[in-house]
Amino acid sequence: MNPILKDDNTTISFFKEEVREFVRERNWGKFHTPKNLIQALSIEVAELSEIFLFKDYSLETIRKNKEILERLSDEIADVFIYLISLANSVNVDLTDIFIKKMEKNRNKYSTEEFNNGSYRKL
Ligand SMILES: [Mg+2]
Repeated sequence: MNPILKDDNTTISFFKEEVREFVRERNWGKFHTPKNLIQALSIEVAELSEIFLFKDYSLETIRKNKEILERLSDEIADVFIYLISLANSVNVDLTDIFIKKMEKNRNKYSTEEFNNGSYRKL
């Protein structure tokens, strides 16, 4: 893995190909059905949530505590990897669906209605 890769110089295609190759090398394609991937994704989200179970970490604590940050980073990566594998499995273009969904979100949550500190429609 190239240590120089960072968010600002890496493409989504790179992630999709890395995950595709990882799955192919292990012959896991038959296990990576949408159902299995969604369940695995859900489990990884639960592992992410477990880090905060019965804790009330401040943002500052999370950012400064190497152990918390490492556990959080590992689980964020697990969620990301399964999400990428799901996108590979069902053959969707993540950029395309992101752009379309953000447009829907902009329409659903207009700045006129949602800029007063409220998270719900009044
Ligand atoms: Mg995990």
